[in-house]
Amino acid sequence: MLGALSACTATPPNPAAATARYLDRIRNDPAKLDAFLLAFPKGADLHNHLSGAIYAESFIGWAIADGLCIDENELALTKGPCGRNLVPASALRKNRPLYDALVGAFSMKYFRPDGETGHDHFFAAFDKFAAAETDREGDMLAQALQQAANDHTVYLELMWSPGMPEARRLARKVGWDGDLARVRNKLIAAGIDQIVPVARRQVDQREARARALLHCADPARRRSGCDVTVRYLAQIIRVFPPAEVFAQDVLAFRLVEADPRFVGLNIVGPEDDPISLHDYSLHMRMFQYLHGLDPRVAMSLHAGELVEGHRGGLRRVRPEDMRFHIREAVEIAGARRIGHGVDIEHENDWRELMADMAARHILVEINLTSNAQILGITGAAHPFLTYWTAGVPVALSTDDEGVERIDLTHEYVRATREYHLRFGQLVTLSRNAVAYGFAPGANLWADVDHFVPNAACATDTIGAAEPSGACAALLATSLKARLQWQLEAALTKFEAGHQ
Ligand SMILES: [Zn+2]
Repeated sequence: MLGALSACTATPPNPAAATARYLDRIRNDPAKLDAFLLAFPKGADLHNHLSGAIYAESFIGWAIADGLCIDENELALTKGPCGRNLVPASALRKNRPLYDALVGAFSMKYFRPDGETGHDHFFAAFDKFAAAETDREGDMLAQALQQAANDHTVYLELMWSPGMPEARRLARKVGWDGDLARVRNKLIAAGIDQIVPVARRQVDQREARARALLHCADPARRRSGCDVTVRYLAQIIRVFPPAEVFAQDVLAFRLVEADPRFVGLNIVGPEDDPISLHDYSLHMRMFQYLHGLDPRVAMSLHAGELVEGHRGGLRRVRPEDMRFHIREAVEIAGARRIGHGVDIEHENDWRELMADMAARHILVEINLTSNAQILGITGAAHPFLTYWTAGVPVALSTDDEGVERIDLTHEYVRATREYHLRFGQLVTLSRNAVAYGFAPGANLWADVDHFVPNAACATDTIGAAEPSGACAALLATSLKARLQWQLEAALTKFEAGHQ
């Protein structure tokens, strides 16, 4: 009798709790922890630069196939003709020392901080492999999508700069007088809108090439990268004169308005570059002005990726540079997400700023390995848990997974080990990444802090194969909710397999 009674009153099985206990059993076993977190559904990667996502070996392969040359002194790829000081890339097939040297130059793989800083080595890599990117952006997209699928990610928000060189060229013709409205009108009169269809065609071509490489139309050979939903952030490079940055801003807004594949924009480039530092507030005012014209355009801005002094190589940073960047990105520009935000505790009134970010639901994209490699910030020196404790939403992302020689799984492993995260916290990170992505549509969660479902799905088992009528109607109209549903289904399956 007692047994029957206790069976009736026993709490129903809780798969998440059982999975949490499984994680605690294996967390000190590196191989098992890696396997657990590789399979763990990670929602999304919201901070991923396409150029930096590619591994050096791919650039070298394309350099050989495309007949590029190598400048042996600079350890950089360059267009032909080869000869004199330029070695044909095909020589890499037999020259293993040169091959290894290029892998080192294109990434942080062999980096040791002797003479050169992590910051300088990291940012120098991009120019060294840039020649191999020409006509290979579809190939790069295919690799980024497949990598996201390998990491069990349902959604990828890629930063990309189509049309930006053309916008900068136009800016040099139009000039700059500091009057944002007037310069914008001049850019429009000079034909900046004509760049939009050119950029959109480039994206069409790249996506078609990526789908072909992943065999998306062939059920027998179709790769899992086809199943990752991808959207783009128009990427503005900030290390140029005001006219050229503003023209990129104007084009980014036009691209987001014209093409639903562009769901927002971002501003990139070393934040400690003299132009980035000198023009920081001007750049934020540019966004404020344009965002005032069209508040629908979502912005995630790199801000607070600074450390003072020589550590990490940010020689140019003064204490006053670290006092206001995140605040201005949030309060002046109107950013909905912040990339990095590492120096938050150096900001004026930083606790009040964090409280404001929590109240506004401004998510911070946390890039642990990038911050370790470029800034030398790790462990307790990183504000990851400080944000979390203050109620600021956070998500893990890769930044430049190819240059860093990582993947999103690596970042989950790193976070779990360094910060002793529990399973429920991993689920929060994963859900946040989709919930705060700029994919359009209503959120599945009515309360995104506690993951309380939208009323339409209140009686549903979230992630189930057959949603109710009202919930199905919500899913039909919301890409974001569909991605969230897909993630919940994957989490349910994952928990069932890790008890
Ligand atoms: Zn970044």
